[in-house]
Amino acid sequence: MKKLEQFDRLVEAFGKIPGVGKKSAIKYAYYVALQDPFFGLNLAHTIENSIQNLKHCIICSGISQNEICDICSDINRNSSIICVVESPKDILTIEDSNSFDGLYFVFNDINSVGNLKDMISKFNSKELIFAFSPSINSDGIMLYIEDQLKELGISFTKIAQGIPTGVSLENVDMLSLTKAIKDRKEL
Ligand SMILES: [Zn+2]
Repeated sequence: MKKLEQFDRLVEAFGKIPGVGKKSAIKYAYYVALQDPFFGLNLAHTIENSIQNLKHCIICSGISQNEICDICSDINRNSSIICVVESPKDILTIEDSNSFDGLYFVFNDINSVGNLKDMISKFNSKELIFAFSPSINSDGIMLYIEDQLKELGISFTKIAQGIPTGVSLENVDMLSLTKAIKDRKEL
């Protein structure tokens, strides 16, 4: 049987996207290459432009088009509170819920503590809210950060229970998220 080499390559590429299985990959490949090639070309350009123009904010590591993101550079945000999240995608989720007007910080790994410290000093922030999805690992990270930053004299809170263990923020409904931020508790 003659292989559709080009088509297979496209299916393979779509299949690498998190959450996309073989069936969907075939559907997408067929759609962009044959069913609606105009859309396909548009998508290709959009992806290319996004890769060229999007980066991580140098302050918070959120997604940005500039060195410093729109949130970090917005003087109307409440810079006294920083919400610490696990992924830049969590910022989008919380922003969508309209439940928070402070700043964000993406905690990538242990090495992020220095950047977080710089950010707190820069904005003279007074409170860190941890918005991690509940797990033993995230409890450990919160304690570690609190320990590293205790001399700054700021308060540490975490979003209220109600977010189920092991569920990532993007899968939490807006109402629960809004309530979880409002009902945050001292660590
Ligand atoms: Zn930023």
